[in-house]
Amino acid sequence: MINFEYTRVSSVKAAIDVLAKNPTGSFIAGGTNLIDLMKRGVTAPSRLIDINNLPLKQIEETKTGLSIGALVINSDVEENDIVQKKYPLLAMALKAGASAQLRNMATVGGNIMQRTRCTYFHDTAMPCNKREPGSGCGALQGYNRMHAIFGASDKCIAVHPSDMCIALAALDATVHISGPKGERKILFTNFHRLPGDTPGKDNTLLKGEIIAGVTIPENNFIKNIYYLKIRDRASYAFALVSVAAALELSGETVKNVRLAMGGVAHKPWRLTEAEKFLTGKRVSKETFIQAAEIAMKGAKAYGHNNFKLKMAPAAIVEALMKAAG
Ligand code: SF4
Repeated sequence: MINFEYTRVSSVKAAIDVLAKNPTGSFIAGGTNLIDLMKRGVTAPSRLIDINNLPLKQIEETKTGLSIGALVINSDVEENDIVQKKYPLLAMALKAGASAQLRNMATVGGNIMQRTRCTYFHDTAMPCNKREPGSGCGALQGYNRMHAIFGASDKCIAVHPSDMCIALAALDATVHISGPKGERKILFTNFHRLPGDTPGKDNTLLKGEIIAGVTIPENNFIKNIYYLKIRDRASYAFALVSVAAALELSGETVKNVRLAMGGVAHKPWRLTEAEKFLTGKRVSKETFIQAAEIAMKGAKAYGHNNFKLKMAPAAIVEALMKAAG
């Protein structure tokens, strides 16, 4: 056990100030990921800054869409009436996301910040460039069944583990951030990053910043949506491949479409070329198969995850078919 100090704060400013004075500290909310990492020795923050008392627990409908505070727990988002009625893709992804116990603890901010479940990252006896820069990547030549087929580098082939984030990427959400220099916001699809040469950095959050919440612009993705998650067992498993599909139809024609995948990249993977192809097309399985082929351009597997090259396009087609009804 490595000793750490503990502070509870009750304002965003205090949280930022305490972190500035303790740069090796870490914010903690639900703790569903951080505590595991600490127990395994993957991370050892000098101080835990408990942010559970911050006033970031509101779900509010705004003039332009929906605002969700960073400390709203996942089950409260999933069960919220407005989310169920107007943002059902998000509710569906959250429900697929973990056990009920975890959803009752995990917060929106923590879900966004959760780290990869690459087993080499979690095993401190193994090389891992993400955990220890320059040590190598155990997964590249190792057992890489869960790993990326898009956007990987020769330094890291890990995947982002969240389901909620795949839906938020598809819905064009924005992450709201507070920090020592004030507030800023960033498009959800630009928040997480690809590994490149610096896989230790999962996202574009700057030192000392905290996630305040997310907003989702109003949309018409109500009826024709589907979140497909393919996993090893029906409960509490991370996605091998997942697809968030949202269609706005005019008769049988695709008026608007959003597609994002999970389990395939270091970040939520938005399928923008496939979306462009589908817009204005008539709904049909053949069209969806063509869209999936477009989406798979540039995919690369690493041995044990070769099956994803077939599973992913099949999942895209299946999710679109289900969304189209
Ligand atoms: Fe580490 Fe990334 Fe390689 Fe996994 S894939 S061992 S997280 S560097």
